[in-house]
Parts: sequence; C-alpha cells; structure tokens
Amino acid sequence: MSRGLAAGDALTPTERPGRLVLLGHPVHHSLSPRFQGAALRAADIALAYEALDVPPPALPDVLERLVAVRGAGNVTIPHKEAVAARCAALTPVARRTGAVNTFWTAHGALVGDNTDVHGVRAVVDRWFPHGLAGVRCAVLGAGGAAAAVLVALVDAGADAVTVWSRTAARAEALARRVGVPVHLAPGADAAVRGAALVVNATPVGLAGTEVPVAPEALAPGARVFDAVYRAGGTAWVRTCRARGHVAVDGLPMLIAQGAAAFTRWFGVAPDLSAMWEAVGGEARAYGTVESR
Ligand code: NAP
Repeated sequence: MSRGLAAGDALTPTERPGRLVLLGHPVHHSLSPRFQGAALRAADIALAYEALDVPPPALPDVLERLVAVRGAGNVTIPHKEAVAARCAALTPVARRTGAVNTFWTAHGALVGDNTDVHGVRAVVDRWFPHGLAGVRCAVLGAGGAAAAVLVALVDAGADAVTVWSRTAARAEALARRVGVPVHLAPGADAAVRGAALVVNATPVGLAGTEVPVAPEALAPGARVFDAVYRAGGTAWVRTCRARGHVAVDGLPMLIAQGAAAFTRWFGVAPDLSAMWEAVGGEARAYGTVESR
C-alpha cells in the first residue's frame, strides 16, 4: 500500500495525526472512545477519537484513506495481524508479537506498534516489582492477546512460562514467533498447576459465567490476571477473589495500552486520572480494584 520507510526513518510520528480512529469489527462495545476522548479534552487537543466498524474486506481501503490524512489510532479484533501485515514499518515489539494495536502515519507510510505489551506490564510490574525471574507463569490462549502477554512476561524476566491453547499448533506457532522457550501444557488445569501468576488470554468470560480454568486448580496464593473485561466484572475474577486470590480483570491493561498509544501519537503522556474517570462507573462495575 504505502511506500516503504527507508532504513533509519523515524518510527515516531512526524506530525500530529489528522484523524484518530479505532479499527475493529465490531467496535460498538469499546470503551476506548470514551477514555481517549477524555484524554484529548484534558490535553486540549481538538481531535475526535472515532470508532470505525470495518469489515475485513474493507480494511485495505480504510488504511489507504487514513494514511492520506496522517491517520493514527488503535486496532482491535479481528484486525491486529492484518494491520501488522500492511504496515510499512513495525516497532520491535510489534514485530515480536506479530500484531498491531496502535498505528500512526510517518513519512506518508503506516507505522505499527503494540502497546498491549505495555498494558500487560502495567499489571505485572505492580504485582511483581522485582521482576518475574523464578516466578512460574501460566498463559491460557495463543492468539493476539496471548502474544502480548508472552512478550510482556519474558521482558519482565520470566524464565518459565507454560502455555495452554485448545489448538496446540497455535501455541507452538506463537512460541516460535515470540522466540521464547515455553512449555506447552495438555490442558488448562495442567498449565496452571503450581503457577504463581495465571493469565487468561482467551475470550472465555466475555459472556455468561464460564471460566477459563476452575479456580480450584490454582495454586494457593496465585495471582490471577483476566485480560477479559465486561460490565459487572468477569465470573473468573469474582470466583478467584472469593477463594482469596488477588485477581484483576482487563480494564487496567486497556487503560494502560491506551495511555501508551496516546503518548506515541502526541509525544506527551495523557491525563491518566481523566481516562479512569471517564470509565469510572465501569471501573466500579467491573470490580476493577488494583490490588485485590
Ligand atoms: P484471538 O486472537 O481470537 O485468540 C483467542 C485465543 O483464545 C485463541 O488461542 C483461541 O483458541 C482461544 N479460545 C477462544 N475461545 C476459546 C474457548 N471457548 N476455550 C478455550 N480457548 C478459547 O483473540 P485475542 O486478540 O487474543 O483476544 C482474546 C481476549 O483477550 C479478547 O476476548 C479480549 O477480551 C481480551 N483482550 C483484552 C485486552 C485488554 O486491553 N484488556 C486487549 C486485547 C485482548 P483457538 O485458536 O482454538 O480458537
């Protein structure tokens, strides 16, 4: 699509974005317009953050049009890998994950980044301030979110990550792509056995009361991070907390990835409290409490 970036071209935006969007399908449920809008207002930036519902066949055209107006934004399901494939340049972390959740236009071409990794670190670093060396970690799922989680865990020092995916080949491909030695578990129960940190990176829990793994299978004291978030909180976080685990849903990750994206687009950090305030009702409803 766009002309390629020459080696050495800056990966940072050269000018303020002309348009700011979220690309997904569907996108109506997304909280991003709400908290990004609040951050834009707090920073006095006269730009709207628009949620665009883009069916996959329309993606190439939409990206072409965005590049023409120095477009920037976020990407959500199902476009993260497809946008990565269409970028002229990727940041190292986007290359490692193979997925783009944040993009901008530089030198007339599309640049892709992955701030989901930063979002995961916001949770993990708070719980394990001295890093993850020697901490047994388990990841459920092997899609785009799991890729960001794996990269974040390894960057935080994890040397023992067990992954379970219902499609084993996908977990193997993910481990190869991210370039980390992972143990592949035969089931979710086996994956979480003895783990001190357990991450759900499947969509299980988005609706209903299904949980990705029975809380009884967790080691006592295991920390539980559910990348899923929904109004009312996820059943897994609720039941894990009831059993005494420290558990958090995906909202802190969502806000942190959004804050990192804002910083990439505008070169300044957003007002985090304005972002949290914008989802304040949800934060309470989601049961998102940082420590417990
Ligand atoms: P994805 O690329 O579609 O991958 C989903 C993974 O979950 C795949 O490994 C898939 O296995 C597995 N899976 C799907 N349904 C399952 C089930 N019923 N039981 C067991 N495994 C199942 O999706 P993604 O982009 O990784 O996103 C996963 C979830 O993470 C999303 O639903 C979203 O809620 C959450 N997320 C949160 C944030 C945040 O900021 N908090 C950011 C990104 C994603 P198969 O390959 O066998 O289908």
